[in-house]
Amino acid sequence: MARTSMQSPTKYMRLILADSQGNKVQAVIFNQREIDMFDHLLHITRTYYIHNEIVKPIKPEHRIVDNVYQWTINPTTLIEEISNDDSSLPAPSFSFIPFAEFHKHMDYSRLVGLSLSTRSSSSFIIDPHIPEATTLQTWATEKEKQLNEIITEKHYLTASSSSLAPIIENITEIALIATLLPMRSNFWINAKIGITKLDQHFWYMACNKCHKATGVDYNEEFSCLYCKEKTVANPRCRVEVKLDDATGHLMATLFGDEAEKFLSCSAIKLMKEITEDGIKNIKSFVKLSSDKNFLIQVRAIKLDSPTEPRYKFNIVAIHDPPQENP
Ligand SMILES: [Zn+2]
Repeated sequence: MARTSMQSPTKYMRLILADSQGNKVQAVIFNQREIDMFDHLLHITRTYYIHNEIVKPIKPEHRIVDNVYQWTINPTTLIEEISNDDSSLPAPSFSFIPFAEFHKHMDYSRLVGLSLSTRSSSSFIIDPHIPEATTLQTWATEKEKQLNEIITEKHYLTASSSSLAPIIENITEIALIATLLPMRSNFWINAKIGITKLDQHFWYMACNKCHKATGVDYNEEFSCLYCKEKTVANPRCRVEVKLDDATGHLMATLFGDEAEKFLSCSAIKLMKEITEDGIKNIKSFVKLSSDKNFLIQVRAIKLDSPTEPRYKFNIVAIHDPPQENP
């Protein structure tokens, strides 16, 4: 795609050329006339012999591939397409990153779910003719029914119950979390859940739409200051729990349906049982701990702190642990 330079009105087009060994070099074509000329000549995923290009070192900040040189293609460059039947040259190879390893390539300090953004140097290729795309297409065709179900039923909006369970290699020991915090904010841990703080409030009054706290009464209609919706106030569970694995423990907050499920008690019942002057015999109506382990996804949230960084942890999802193979 042709772009306009930030510093001058010069148009340029950037290409990434790859050979069969996976070596890559970026190339650039300047000015509109040459862009038009080569745009007709060069097609993505096809193979060419290229001679007489100008090779120059490229500044690190302009590099998009791991190569210290950039080629400039100009009218003296000779480009010759290699036909598909010429099997002496294998197809160029791409280095794709599986989603499961995505986090290793991110430079983030705060991750809210997962979103992807593009910048001016990003390019999209729709349905490229490469083996990886064919494999993905086949997979999508096989799973068409499930994928459509996810899209139409919007399972992803209630991420806590539908987020995919992690693969075992991605489980972090609690003792390691503190060291990983500067790099990551999402962790899967395999731990027991217990409630040790009995003097907490267990629920709060919340906007029915966005779950932000509100001062209005139960079932009262109001306009939410946060989501601007006209809605009603409902009690919502919020409980601080202690997560324990063999390596350490972590205090984290459990919300909403997941909290009700764990406590075996609804937020409405909690609201009715817990009075202003304290909790009457909380042990008699909620479950305070589990004997079994769960796979728990926690998200670290950095707190404003003038000194060393401090974090709190929210529980995003709870899954039963994977079944051991017999
Ligand atoms: Zn709201």
